[in-house]
Amino acid sequence: MEPIWDTICQRIHMDSKTRDLGLYIHIPFCQKRCHFCAFYLTSHREDRIQDFLSALAQEISLYSRRETCHRFPISTIYFGGGTPTSLESVQLASILSLIHQHFTVDSAAEITVEADPETVSRSSLQTLYEAGVTRLSLGVQSLEKSEWQRLGRLGQMETVCRAMTDVKDSGITNVSLDVMYGLPGQTLETWQCSLERVLELFPTHLSCYALTIEEGTKFHRDVREGKLESRDVELEAAMHEQAVTCLGSAGYHQYEVSNFAKAGWECQHNLRYWSGLDYLGLGPSAQSYVCGMRFGNISDLSLYSHSLQTQDLPIDFLDELSVKDVARERVIFGLRMNKGVPIHALTTFENDQPWQSTVDRLIEDGLLSVDHQYLKVTSLGRRFIDTVALQLS
Ligand code: SF4
Repeated sequence: MEPIWDTICQRIHMDSKTRDLGLYIHIPFCQKRCHFCAFYLTSHREDRIQDFLSALAQEISLYSRRETCHRFPISTIYFGGGTPTSLESVQLASILSLIHQHFTVDSAAEITVEADPETVSRSSLQTLYEAGVTRLSLGVQSLEKSEWQRLGRLGQMETVCRAMTDVKDSGITNVSLDVMYGLPGQTLETWQCSLERVLELFPTHLSCYALTIEEGTKFHRDVREGKLESRDVELEAAMHEQAVTCLGSAGYHQYEVSNFAKAGWECQHNLRYWSGLDYLGLGPSAQSYVCGMRFGNISDLSLYSHSLQTQDLPIDFLDELSVKDVARERVIFGLRMNKGVPIHALTTFENDQPWQSTVDRLIEDGLLSVDHQYLKVTSLGRRFIDTVALQLS
């Protein structure tokens, strides 16, 4: 993979901007795969965990030996997966310690760990807090028992409440909850109930995602075999509107299509993705975006480990984006945020008549608007964000 790394270094050297970096660490373990989940992961096994931890340490060390990496102070760290908390909290703390040893981490960095309520305790959370974790993202999905079970998830509703109490006792004050709508059997009434229950837990941040049925998942097979109905787009739109209204009146502002926060508690790491800022992904299947280059790691734990044992970065592919591709992505991702994209970010398209016509048409159709020098999606456009993105791509 060294030729790939050489290409990345050349591009970094050509780039004169000073940049900070987000670090994403993919922990590829879960106790059980949920029926809708298409992420790369493998089942939790002690020997695999030891292999993964050694390989990840090697990956951190290999990057840190690249002089170019020291140009980037780390502003955000995000442990995702998989279920990061399927590792022992001391193992997560030791990964963080390695990162601090090998990179320059901003003292005010946001450090998030995704967690399954089933896999945290007061003492494990305390360990994470003492290791520097500032934010926890708890995967709740639904607070209706029947919906939860249909997703193939483990656990009980009481577990979520207990986990919330433990998080607050641990000292971590920034807590996000993930909930889903468009679930099998879900109605507007049960969705409202889930929203009201999560609000009773007083999180700082909420992510509300529509269920997507992706290839390779149990739900995808169930739809194909007629055991599960496919998406009801109208019902999903109504549920999304319901979330905007309910969470808005509880003081959570929508800052991205699926994300809501109390003022000042927006997720800084995810804002990087939508703002076109750089991030480096570590771990199997992790994706990176640095200086207009998109690259991704091998989605296979054995191959990932093997590559690192031979001192090779486990990069599977690299896409070098043109200036226009970078600008296009910035618009498409930026439109996911409520604040939109500054008009000056569109100068690359000044002479691109077809692209300008598409924007004009989306404005005429009421899907986009220009407001205070920002191009934004309207509330109607938010319902059709994927269509808007497709038209602009
Ligand atoms: S817990 Fe999360 S990562 Fe693990 S299988 Fe379920 S949805 Fe996927």
